[in-house]
Amino acid sequence: MSQVEKHTFQAEIQQLLSIVIHSLYTNREVFVRELISNAADACEKWRFLQASGQLPAVEGASGPTITLTSDETTGVLTITDTGVGMTRDELVENLGTIAHSGTKAFLKALAEKQQSADGKLIGQFGVGFYSAFMVAKKVTVHSRTHAADSEGWKWESDGGDGYSIESASDAAPGTRITLELKEDAKEFAKNERLETIIKQYSNFVTFPIELNAKKINTIQAIWARSKNEVKEEEYLEFYKYVGHDFEAPRYRLHFTADAPLSIQALLFVPTRSFELPGMGRTESEVHLYCRKVLIESKPKHLLPEWLRFLRGVVDCEDLPLNVSRERMQDSELMRKLNRALTNRFLKFLAEEAEKSADTFAEFYAQHARYLKEGILADSEHTAAIAKLLRYESSTTEKGKKTSLAEYVKRMPEGQTEIYFLLAPDRAAAEASPYFEVFQAKRYEVLFVEDPVDEFVLDRVREFEGKSLKGAERADLKLEKQNEGALSEDESKALATWLKETLGEEVEEVRASERLVDSPVVVVERDSFMTGSMRRTLKLMGQDRGNSFEESPDLEFNPRHPVVVRLQQLRSSDAETAGLVAHQLLDQARLAAGLLEDPRAMLKRLNQLLSRVVGIPVTPATTPAP
Ligand code: ADP
Ligand code: MG
Repeated sequence: MSQVEKHTFQAEIQQLLSIVIHSLYTNREVFVRELISNAADACEKWRFLQASGQLPAVEGASGPTITLTSDETTGVLTITDTGVGMTRDELVENLGTIAHSGTKAFLKALAEKQQSADGKLIGQFGVGFYSAFMVAKKVTVHSRTHAADSEGWKWESDGGDGYSIESASDAAPGTRITLELKEDAKEFAKNERLETIIKQYSNFVTFPIELNAKKINTIQAIWARSKNEVKEEEYLEFYKYVGHDFEAPRYRLHFTADAPLSIQALLFVPTRSFELPGMGRTESEVHLYCRKVLIESKPKHLLPEWLRFLRGVVDCEDLPLNVSRERMQDSELMRKLNRALTNRFLKFLAEEAEKSADTFAEFYAQHARYLKEGILADSEHTAAIAKLLRYESSTTEKGKKTSLAEYVKRMPEGQTEIYFLLAPDRAAAEASPYFEVFQAKRYEVLFVEDPVDEFVLDRVREFEGKSLKGAERADLKLEKQNEGALSEDESKALATWLKETLGEEVEEVRASERLVDSPVVVVERDSFMTGSMRRTLKLMGQDRGNSFEESPDLEFNPRHPVVVRLQQLRSSDAETAGLVAHQLLDQARLAAGLLEDPRAMLKRLNQLLSRVVGIPVTPATTPAP
């Protein structure tokens, strides 16, 4: 003798429904996520009541399940769970009262009894259920609890002004929700469409989800388990799934943290960098979950952009989500989360580098450029990233790299700065005139091959209290070795003559105290930029005003035979001396990476060669520069 009771929704529910249907969610498909989350919550509650002896134990029960069936032709979709189910009063209260979350009430009841469901329940706002009305013209809920004397009930509504409720003796323990899809929402009865949606949002829900007799969520949320319970193969399978990679990852970081939010994260570093030079940036593949349900796929601010090579999952139990659960509400908190994750990851890298330098070298070969980008783009982490930098140096074996920390440890007494020199390769660095003084003093120099590294090291600025300095800018002197050298007066005279001869091409000319084997060197006047830095900026089109036009200073080696001879030659053969002066300047520029077109000096070189082999100079070939 079933009797249908009609109820009108509270006035507020009608307003709420209209908001949910028309504007709360950006995507209609999230109704699947909401209904599955409710089913998962019901299953979780069932499990909890079982475990705590509040429900009779069931023999041979395999645990609760969530089952979906859909029929494209009729446009009917059902979602069935074998979770706790609802009594008549609960149906009325949870589905017919303004923003009433039965889940919140459940948690509160637990808290009063001092028990906890360990943050496993998903619902919290009490509006998710209504999302069904975005796509359904009629929603029917059959429900029944597992109590021995339970009755089944049927709740039904068209999302208008009310709902009906009647007894339903055929309702099985648990809940079955039937959606009669609207004409324009029939796509949600399509098997493939549903499978995609379930996989996207609910793939890691703890309970088995079956869609039209096929199990969908085969991969477990291993990030939520404790490290020593997860097997290597499970990590690998999970990585291949979230990382879209066929290779095993280089590194894996699985950790939990309590501050600033309680998070569980599982991050991977792919063995290879997916970003090909010149092919544009890849996107981060780290997703944000809340209690195993996807909140945002690849959220922009979860990690800094330079960590975009990471793959994995961050799950945050108590995210302050907005009601639609599509975004985190608090951007300040997102920043904190970002900082916490970044710090943790950098610490992890430092530990790994310590553990195995070889594995770290392999990581570095693929991913160093992201770290360097981090230094250039993100001053907050510069110091931590600087510890991870590795370079070849004048003391390492060829092909082996060293860290700044190791460099500092090796610094001899008297050396106060860390030096680096940009050169295309090791041989060029060792032959550079700028290297001479360091070699003579036995100071180590980092050999830097990529022009970007000069900017990076410049940005790092200092390490363990020692400032970093480009070799070209180092203010170092050799002890005087005066044998055969120009006297101070002769040096002054030569400097004056060189300045007159070279004119605007040099700013100032002086005797150098840093050169051993080279006759001359150019020194940048701009104390912040080396020659190659300027050239790099210029190539990038970043001409900073006319600072590029500024000429460098020229330093000559008063002990070098060519220089000593030049001082005499300028009075005996002014023409040849002029050619030599210009040639020396070009060579110095070449060594500094400042000579834009070396072909221009070939003509002068030919003139000099003519003189060497004794061809008389005709007036036509004379003019110098
Ligand atoms: P929330 O999940 O945020 O609590 P919902 O609007 O999604 O809010 O659901 C409202 C309430 O209805 C839930 O808290 C729960 O008590 C109840 N409910 C919804 N779906 C089910 C279900 N499948 N089984 C049992 N109870 C459910
Ligand atoms: Mg819900």
